Amino acid sequence: MSSLGYQAILYGFAALPGVIAERVFLAEDGLQALDAGFAPAAADLLAFSVSGENDYEGLLRTLALAGLPLRARDRGAGHPLVLAGGFAPTLNPEPIAPFVDAVAVGEGEELLEPLVAAVRAGRGAGRAPLLERLAAVPGVYVPALYEPAYAPDGTLAAFTPAPGAPARVARAAVRDLDAWPCRSRTVAPGSEFEGLGIVEVNRGCGRGCRFCAAGHVVRPLRHRSLAALRATIDESAPLAPRVGLLGAAVADHPGLLTLARELAAAGRGFSLSSLRLDRAEPELLALLAAGGTRTATFAPETGTERLRRVLNKRITDAQVLEAAGRAAAAGLRQLKLYFMLGLPTETPEDRAAIADLVRRVRHRLLEDRREKTDLVRIAVTLGCFVPKAWTPFQWHPHAGVRELKEGIHAVVRELKKVPNVDVTHDLPKWSYVQALLSLGDRRAADLLERAHRAGGDWARAARESALNPDFFVLRGRRRDELLPWDFIDVGLSKSALWAQYRSALGDEEPGARGEAGG
Ligand code: SF4
Repeated sequence: MSSLGYQAILYGFAALPGVIAERVFLAEDGLQALDAGFAPAAADLLAFSVSGENDYEGLLRTLALAGLPLRARDRGAGHPLVLAGGFAPTLNPEPIAPFVDAVAVGEGEELLEPLVAAVRAGRGAGRAPLLERLAAVPGVYVPALYEPAYAPDGTLAAFTPAPGAPARVARAAVRDLDAWPCRSRTVAPGSEFEGLGIVEVNRGCGRGCRFCAAGHVVRPLRHRSLAALRATIDESAPLAPRVGLLGAAVADHPGLLTLARELAAAGRGFSLSSLRLDRAEPELLALLAAGGTRTATFAPETGTERLRRVLNKRITDAQVLEAAGRAAAAGLRQLKLYFMLGLPTETPEDRAAIADLVRRVRHRLLEDRREKTDLVRIAVTLGCFVPKAWTPFQWHPHAGVRELKEGIHAVVRELKKVPNVDVTHDLPKWSYVQALLSLGDRRAADLLERAHRAGGDWARAARESALNPDFFVLRGRRRDELLPWDFIDVGLSKSALWAQYRSALGDEEPGARGEAGG
């Protein structure tokens, strides 16, 4: 309900002349229509907002609940056109390719008008001409117009576009963010961010951590102007008392401190979607605490500086300790720390260092506290690393469920010995599924459909399918391998990503320094 992604698209569609846009949610007990509540199967266009791969099964469930055939080839002229957009299908749409008619690749705002124009123009003309029209919209991928072929070893041998379809589909990106204000339009009681009007501050990130798809694909980093942000924040005032400033690099916005001072002076509480360890300035932290924020969230990612260098995350342990101390001194009462397991080159020593770093953070907080009641709680989250398309680790295998389970158990065991620390962690089996849907090609759709028909039972789907999911998840890829997502043009050079990968593994290629350009 709180997601800005679907809200931007919903209201963008609704603003177009002659378009009625309504939302439908997939709830525990079926589809839940809001607004006027017309049936999804009666729409001209059914657009899915899909941010993560673990939502793919929900896409299939929604199609089934709407009474639509799952596979695009089984839908006819009387059915709505099915479109998927969002971050996961932008990186690699192939695992859902057979289920959708089109994929909006990249940022959707500027695609809406040409998409609606293509649907209108193609109405009544039959499915094939409509798909051809859609494929002509830059940033729109039409899977039915591409034919994959496979080599005897199972790898992708060719990916051939039909005549007229582009060989590569360029990711759409908004140039001038100020032209597209992005804020919560619905703030609903009982939803994730109840009472918080979210405003997007910037888009993208310039830092290039090697595991992070957002840091590579959502480029360039674009900041909204202070004038535009002030206007959007004013507009959101009647909706919610507090403001949530959102962006992958919100702390890198050059006007953030100015904005924070203004919000504090106006008596409006606010929070940030994330806080960089190296941007945790005392004044900003104090303004956050005064604005009602209780928790500081930092992502050291790993327990050792060595492994952070592998990730291109240039943060020292000293910076982690300093930021934690500053957050506590500013009056924030909880510290959330994010770590990942299953990373390339990770050793048992790296894993053991996570608990050591948390212990050192705790000691630092104890040293600084003035009274017993000042004790800050530490909440540690252990995530499982999933290699993502369009990052330097796209060639790297997933660590596997057993190794991740053992690693998590070992770290949790140690963390349980540290007082005042709460631990949560990802489930390795879901990170395996996420890796399958991140790295799989079109054949992975068979597993996805079987899992859907088995009520979400992926183990059964794997048993019943002729396809071995380990092929996609646990196999390192060759440098020259044609990757299922190579036809997407996100503006990155594959050779620069490969050089980054080799450099991360300590196997630097001559003349290959620097980030993957684009
Ligand atoms: S992990 Fe954070 S800092 Fe690193 S590239 Fe991604 S968004 Fe940027």
